[in-house]
Amino acid sequence: MDSEIILDKLSRMHPTAECELNFKTPFELLVAVILSAQCTDKRVNEVTDELFKTYSTPDDFAAMSNAELEPLIHSCGFFRNKANNIIGAAAAVKERFGGEVPDTMEELLTIPGVGRKTASVVLTVAFRKPAMPVDTHVFRVSHRLGMSLGKTPEDVENDLKKSYRPEEWNRLHHTMIFHGRYICKAVRPLCDQCLLKSECVYIKEK
Ligand code: SF4
Repeated sequence: MDSEIILDKLSRMHPTAECELNFKTPFELLVAVILSAQCTDKRVNEVTDELFKTYSTPDDFAAMSNAELEPLIHSCGFFRNKANNIIGAAAAVKERFGGEVPDTMEELLTIPGVGRKTASVVLTVAFRKPAMPVDTHVFRVSHRLGMSLGKTPEDVENDLKKSYRPEEWNRLHHTMIFHGRYICKAVRPLCDQCLLKSECVYIKEK
């Protein structure tokens, strides 16, 4: 596998790849990422465009009851769990971090509802720190292109981090997500539109 050729071709196919969640502050991004589990970014943006008009700070969310928040995020799915996590995260950020979302992995992982992927997204998108979030798209594309044989998201994260320089991780993450979302789809990938056919392990094995 030639890592640089893959990143170059991903960048050519997805020159505008960026986070598609709308947010104005790191805390709004944290809320949006929690809402995005098992939900499209488009739907999350529809919900947060309204939600953030009234509630946007840790203080705002920490003061809400589940009964108030749940109907506002209902259409994102798993709304009970997500409401719990958002209110718990807001209280933690307010009480333990002075109302500011922390910018280290260790601190982020102490916040309710924040796992490694969510923490990595906040680090790379809100704070532009080197991190490599592995979601379902990054996981699938990594395997199809032979970038990792890892069985868990953390294995894949470690393999990608070894193959690329930290300053490349942000671009790699976003271009892989766009690739998985728009071309290398889970069912019926659009291989005719893909520049990576000669590198692809998946089509060679088909
Ligand atoms: S050739 Fe097809 S399966 Fe391989 S990376 Fe491109 S879209 Fe995905």
